[in-house]
Amino acid sequence: MSAPSLAVPASRKASAPMRIAVVGAGVAGATFARQIKSLMGDHAQLSLFEMGRGPGGRAATRRDRNDTRMSIDHGAPVFDVNKSSKFYDVAEALVDEGYLQKASPWWRYHARTTDDVDVKLAFPSDGYEAYLGKPSMNAMCKGLLAGVDITTHFGTKVSKLSCANVNSTVKWNLKGAGATPADEPVDFGDFDYLVVTSLGFAHATRWRDIFGEEAPVVEAWRELSEKPPGTSEKVDSLLASVERVDAIPVISIFAQYSADAAASWLPKAEFETLRFAPHGGALNKIFGGGYQRADGGGEVTSWTNEPRIVDGIVVRRRENGDVTLACHASEEYSRSSFGVYGTGSTASRLGAGTKAGAKSNDPRTEQEIVRQVLDDVAKALHLDDQAKSDFVKPTNGPFMQRWGSAFPVASTCISAEGAFAPESGLILAGDFTSMRPGTIEGAAESAIDAATKLASHVISL
Ligand SMILES: Cc1cc2nc3c(=O)[nH]c(=O)nc-3n(C[C@H](O)[C@H](O)[C@H](O)COP(=O)(O)OP(=O)(O)OC[C@H]3O[C@@H](n4cnc5c(N)ncnc54)[C@H](O)[C@@H]3O)c2cc1C
Repeated sequence: MSAPSLAVPASRKASAPMRIAVVGAGVAGATFARQIKSLMGDHAQLSLFEMGRGPGGRAATRRDRNDTRMSIDHGAPVFDVNKSSKFYDVAEALVDEGYLQKASPWWRYHARTTDDVDVKLAFPSDGYEAYLGKPSMNAMCKGLLAGVDITTHFGTKVSKLSCANVNSTVKWNLKGAGATPADEPVDFGDFDYLVVTSLGFAHATRWRDIFGEEAPVVEAWRELSEKPPGTSEKVDSLLASVERVDAIPVISIFAQYSADAAASWLPKAEFETLRFAPHGGALNKIFGGGYQRADGGGEVTSWTNEPRIVDGIVVRRRENGDVTLACHASEEYSRSSFGVYGTGSTASRLGAGTKAGAKSNDPRTEQEIVRQVLDDVAKALHLDDQAKSDFVKPTNGPFMQRWGSAFPVASTCISAEGAFAPESGLILAGDFTSMRPGTIEGAAESAIDAATKLASHVISL
């Protein structure tokens, strides 16, 4: 990455390195780590905590320890980056380093219009580049962290924070536990700066809903505020802003098929990635209109607007011939199944005994959702009975994951300025603090900005 190094003054060179804890190894956490190390080098000592088994967050890949062929991008399947974005050079570097590949410029969309035609859509639009993970999406975060001198703690949920005023500066202490709620917390020590890249970790209501306990940042700050010298208005306002952020949930149903298992239901066309919006209204909502009929019949003007379960379907042919399928349910449908997170999800694994854990361990509920989503997709793909019976019996899966905060709502997000309180050692980054929430580009840009501002702040001390 071509980040300019900031000159560190001699006085700071002599002092101990800044200890920085980053919570979350999604796109924002991984980008922050790469950027701050490139700016501050050994003057920053970094620890990265991630409750998932590996990096990725919402840009992760579901795997199966018992089946090495299984690899499905169940969050973001693909992303685009504006060529004028601060993340563009990083994305291009990740292509050169073999962690990303460029997505083919034309995607075929099948969208149901009133006269049921295929729609042709140019993706990405002019001025943008589109990328896929190579071989899978979580390669991106692995690539961002490759070669970065950092201590990583995967499979570790930061469950307890405390902060203290030491010589007029706030120090943050982190404790975390491993794979099950019963694990004893480990004390990871004190840090000069806490970088939070997860909305839920600082959001009182969301954290309580999933884990049944007070959000660690909120609890630690309340305890500090109760002691002299009292509270910081900046952090009070930052936490109040977090609480106002709303996010759209998405239920993702995903599966993997061997080439044979996919043969009867998959469209015959040659392709690398196919993206379907089964109901045209959704396509319109996502991309804003202006579509040409694939049969050359001019612009599409009439869309069906019937109630729907699925908004998007992504089918990808892997290098080994396998085919992966990811279906993303509509906002309305996803909101209606609050509390069912999917038995394999991190929220379910670590939240056992709480609302999410209890409900997601009810297989009937999960199975019912999977069935309804696949039925809707089969209808959208016009599958006959034989094809449908093959479609609902993949080689691996079908699995379900409910992303509780898939897409932060733009009008409720936090400004980069409001997310930065270095005097109290607290910095937020992530797509919920960006101008393009719900995108990989937005998450990465927010992290580049936060790291650059923190490096400047440290140097100014
Ligand atoms: C179904 C779906 C489809 C999408 N499609 C697209 C798309 O087509 N294009 C696009 O650009 N974007 C898409 N996105 C959005 C994109 O994935 C996100 O905007 C981006 O990945 C957000 O990254 P982040 O680092 O800000 O947050 P996250 O990825 O949410 O990272 C936060 C991390 O913090 C971790 N964490 C939270 N609490 C703790 C704790 N206490 N201890 C340790 N770790 C913790 C979480 O496990 C998580 O890994 C999609 C998202 C979803 C869910």
